[in-house]
Amino acid sequence: MKENLLNDASYCLGCIKKPCRNGCPLNNDIPSFIKKIKDSQYQESFNILSETTVLPSICGRICSHSTQCQGHCIRGIKSKPVNIGKLESTIGDISLKEDYPLPLLSNKKKNNKIAIIGSGPSSLTCAAFLARHQYQVTIYEKYNTLGGLLVHGIPSFRLDKEIVFKNISKILSLGIKVKYNQELGKNLLISDLEKKYDAIYLGIGGNISNNMNIPGEHLKGVYSANKLLETNNHPDYKDKYIIINGGGNVAMDISRTIKRLGAKEVTIVYRRSKNEMPVSQEELIAAEKEGIKFIYQTNIIKVIGDSNVEGIECLKTNLVKEKNNPRLVPIDIENSNHIIKCNYLIKAIGSHPDENILNTLDLTINNSYLQVNEYNQTSKPYIFAGGDLIGTKKTVANASRSGRDAAYNIIKYLEEKEITKTITK
Ligand code: SF4
Repeated sequence: MKENLLNDASYCLGCIKKPCRNGCPLNNDIPSFIKKIKDSQYQESFNILSETTVLPSICGRICSHSTQCQGHCIRGIKSKPVNIGKLESTIGDISLKEDYPLPLLSNKKKNNKIAIIGSGPSSLTCAAFLARHQYQVTIYEKYNTLGGLLVHGIPSFRLDKEIVFKNISKILSLGIKVKYNQELGKNLLISDLEKKYDAIYLGIGGNISNNMNIPGEHLKGVYSANKLLETNNHPDYKDKYIIINGGGNVAMDISRTIKRLGAKEVTIVYRRSKNEMPVSQEELIAAEKEGIKFIYQTNIIKVIGDSNVEGIECLKTNLVKEKNNPRLVPIDIENSNHIIKCNYLIKAIGSHPDENILNTLDLTINNSYLQVNEYNQTSKPYIFAGGDLIGTKKTVANASRSGRDAAYNIIKYLEEKEITKTITK
């Protein structure tokens, strides 16, 4: 593990301006942690990463490096960028194997109690940074395992669950308490938590698939990609033709999962072209290699069938440039109607928080997301929120950054009482 690490680390130029750092949503000090690898100081390297992240084994594996840190690496201009993801995940893995502790960030034990609701990347990061500042932290989780979408979302072929659980154990060893099988709005009420805790962090994500709003969407055989990935409760795919509607990481994850579960043919239908796909290049290439088919510039306008899905009706699209829109916009081509036969249609066109839960919170909602101010603070000053619940860009690193920012804002609120309520209900 350590031998290859040195070769990869030696390739880094140690740029003074650190453009790679600017490309990282967590703002990891990449040149400094790589410098410690060059000096064979692995624990020091881990400690530098720990200043900004508590998920190095995870982000190092699944981040979209080509558009984030590695996409900004100076080496990448003329040649290959430094393999930052691999270096980060290897240091994370060494820290798990050799049991390096997450360094504490305060010498003083605090009495304030904070409840963290949810245990995905934003919640775990928020909990870890608060615990490292020696606050009393309790995580409430609806399932009997922690991890949120790291466990109930990203498939095992993309993220090894053993690594996730080891990373979570390291975070829990900071003294964080956990209460399992606690579902917000059901057997867990915010009104009860308000009485027991000085601050609350809501990080329950947003895993309800967006609707396509087309005729036939109600037919049997139309499924939500997010739900299938979360519950792992799949229909029988044997000898079936499956269409996935979408072009992001969820579309790739569900397509590869379904292919592995024995589907005859899995096809992704996307309204724009390959170049406009929001999915990371790494994931697109992996899906292509596994035999997933792609149909670009095609808009699904109707699901066909009596009670079960029998096919989809589509229109071809032209892509046009629009003022003030960085993305090309798909415009349907008249009379280009055609039908593609399939047995199931899977929706993977984005997701949002569960409105049924949001409505139990008595907090301000804006456009299906929980509204927060610049301090991650909701319409109640002691309740903070982050990650997908507030509409953060849907990547693990961005969710984690949101959780870290919230932790520092909670500390500010508890220690200085300097944050006051700035949004109204
Ligand atoms: S930009 Fe690339 S070469 Fe420069 S410090 Fe960052 S990782 Fe190293």
